Amino acid sequence: MMAHRNLRGRVAPAGCETEPVPEQPDRGDRPARLAYLDHAATTPLRPAARDAMLPWLGERFGNPSGDHRVARGARQAVDEARDVVADVVGCRPGDVVFTSGGTEADNMAVRGVYAARPGPVLCSAIEHDAVRNPIGLVGGTTVAVDTRGVLDLDALDDALTPDVTLLALMSANNEVGVIQPVAEAVELVRRRAPAATVHTDAVQAVCWLDLRAAISGVDLVAISSHKVGGPQGVGALIARAGTPLRPLLLGGGQERELRSGTHNVAGIVGMAAALRAAAAERDVTAARVGGLRDRLAEGLLAAIPGAVRTGCGAAPRLPGTLHLCIPGVESEALLFLLDEAGICASAASACASGAHQASHVLAAMGIGPELGAGALRLTLGWTSTDADVDHALRVIPAAVDRLRGAQARRPEPAGAPRP
Ligand code: PLP
Repeated sequence: MMAHRNLRGRVAPAGCETEPVPEQPDRGDRPARLAYLDHAATTPLRPAARDAMLPWLGERFGNPSGDHRVARGARQAVDEARDVVADVVGCRPGDVVFTSGGTEADNMAVRGVYAARPGPVLCSAIEHDAVRNPIGLVGGTTVAVDTRGVLDLDALDDALTPDVTLLALMSANNEVGVIQPVAEAVELVRRRAPAATVHTDAVQAVCWLDLRAAISGVDLVAISSHKVGGPQGVGALIARAGTPLRPLLLGGGQERELRSGTHNVAGIVGMAAALRAAAAERDVTAARVGGLRDRLAEGLLAAIPGAVRTGCGAAPRLPGTLHLCIPGVESEALLFLLDEAGICASAASACASGAHQASHVLAAMGIGPELGAGALRLTLGWTSTDADVDHALRVIPAAVDRLRGAQARRPEPAGAPRP
């Protein structure tokens, strides 16, 4: 059979080779309707961020580390942005270390603390790779979560010894959206390993939670601009005074000698404007988006037999995240059909290769590879509308039916063992 390619030349996975997709593109590679449901991967730039950045992409410029009026103008812009970030996050302006994004902030936290105070380090079993990989590099230990995806505080209690130097526990998970018991974990750490540093990756949480309350008592916090409607490639590590931390990058000694490199002034200014805008509308947007997400969840669960809402239970979760496991479909094939029909979604977190690997988050929640193979993450955000939900409710059940039909029609491979 000839390989079926979509308009961008991607080859259709098995089950997608024939029959038109539920909604055909109208021209070029633009489907008739587009529903962007991948806000956890990145969310569109907010107008306030674009407006704040524009002068710094045009007539305004300068290296904030310089000694003349142009440099001083840039330094003032960075300092004002620092004040905004500190206000939104609930720290002192001097605690804010600007970075190239969440990945750098997480790496700096884990590797920087380990370099300053080598010793046993712990992280939850559901951390983003930006934490998980550096923790693996220094031989760290993971702490279990329960079937809802919430850190098991008893397991943390067991893992904590007085010589532990770091616990990394994300504020909210990027795949299933479950909010973690950070305050309770901090309390345990302070009792059992008083000298340990606590880091939280708040990259997904910063858009939805009031971090001033959510992260009190934490030493290090990673945030990223493009998850709140700021530009990509900029973020910050909040490092409270006195936290043992060595820099990853050596050079000009910017950012209290913790992060050398000329500042990304436009990016920093844009991030601050996005954070301010997101914080100002947080409650209203969370209620609106939460309502959209719930309507989407109810509609899909009613229309797709056997679909399971991942980690369903009493665990608090981010308002924009809906994660489903759909038996009888492969995520890759489903995402292909959805993309054709103008639904932008994902299986797990965005990754550079685009390859879909088994999710360590689902595995940690006790979800087996068979059910996990049909994972679908739909994440809504500040631009999401009722029309997006309507479109998703029209397209997704039809795509699942089609894949299940193709599966049922597929002949058994010759020589396959019979049960
Ligand atoms: N941490 C979490 C929880 C994330 O979801 C992401 C991005 O998806 C990152 C870290 C990395 O952030 P950045 O894309 O800014 O490097």
